[in-house]
Amino acid sequence: MNDLDADVLVIGAGITGAMIAFELANQGARVAVVDAQQAGGGATRRALSLATPILTPEHFGDTARSVSRLAVISAQNGVIPTNTSVLHVPGTSARVEALHTRFVELNAHPAQVSWETDPHTLPGGYEVGVIVRNCVMLDAHALCLKLLAHKQIRLREKVEITDVRLHRGSMHALAAGTTVRAGAVVLATNAAVGLFSKQLAANIRLSHGSQFVSKPGPVNRCLPLIIDGGRVNVVHGKDGRTQVAAWQPAGSGINPATDLSAWMKSREPALAEQTESTAQAVLSTTEDGAPFVDRLDGDGNVFFAVGLGVFGLAWTALVAEAMAELVQGD
Ligand SMILES: Cc1cc2nc3c(=O)[nH]c(=O)nc-3n(C[C@H](O)[C@H](O)[C@H](O)COP(=O)(O)OP(=O)(O)OC[C@H]3O[C@@H](n4cnc5c(N)ncnc54)[C@H](O)[C@@H]3O)c2cc1C
Repeated sequence: MNDLDADVLVIGAGITGAMIAFELANQGARVAVVDAQQAGGGATRRALSLATPILTPEHFGDTARSVSRLAVISAQNGVIPTNTSVLHVPGTSARVEALHTRFVELNAHPAQVSWETDPHTLPGGYEVGVIVRNCVMLDAHALCLKLLAHKQIRLREKVEITDVRLHRGSMHALAAGTTVRAGAVVLATNAAVGLFSKQLAANIRLSHGSQFVSKPGPVNRCLPLIIDGGRVNVVHGKDGRTQVAAWQPAGSGINPATDLSAWMKSREPALAEQTESTAQAVLSTTEDGAPFVDRLDGDGNVFFAVGLGVFGLAWTALVAEAMAELVQGD
């Protein structure tokens, strides 16, 4: 009764799955998307909304293009992005050199990246920083829901896939009370890949993230701040809310919530008193920081797009295009 048929089934209705489904739907595919919880209810709901190119020479150019593409898709779907620059700063004086090395490595992008020492631009306590231009702020959760409303996409929430198998030439994805039959299956399940591939799970690293949101206050016009490459990120919203996220790799022994609270107490003691909400989430990351987008070994058409990491929004447009090419070329 609850069964579905589609050309492609996307498992996971976060921003990664939504962007992939949207790209495939625009190319004419009938796409089913299922999520064990609610669409956009995983890491996507926690994102601080900052789409910014990755500050490494290997990934900067690709992710800068991907961010621009994401901004266009977002605007076309009624989720208006705000252009911004972001400021990368070193968390300690010992990290200044590391940040400067990153900046020098990015000398191929002089229009987009600059070294900053102006005390009027830098927040108090920071003497140097790197400015990255052409970034955007957008509501990833709202965008996810808009994309999934595409007429070629059928979304089912609270459907947790527990097995995927090849049966009489088509893929069958099984959930309690539901079978989805499709020509191809795409895993966009973030950290939950172990069920589908032990090998993939073994190559994924997990990071724990902690999120703080303040109550609305006076609007703060400081640029979004990325400290030590993302250990702590701070974004001031137009509604006067400040959001802070902190990250630690799983197994580091450091709780990001403790790290976040220590940072706030030392840098923004007044803010620490204005908590509206806090939350935790787990993310999949990869060794070189670029997502895993490929086909699973073995029988059947199973593809995966995981490991988007702590700046996942920057990758989504690129990943969606790559996945559509893989699936359609099959
Ligand atoms: C606190 C915090 C702040 C962040 N801030 C930023 C930011 O400012 N900028 C940025 O670029 N990135 C940010 N990120 C990272 C960003 O949120 C992620 O990179 C992105 O949301 C990953 O999207 P996803 O779709 O891959 O994963 P998710 O959003 O986690 O989606 C995966 C979905 O798969 C579903 N699922 C899993 N297993 C199954 C199954 N068996 N059956 C059905 N469904 C299943 C889950 O329910 C989930 O909804 C932040 C993350 C956090 C936690």
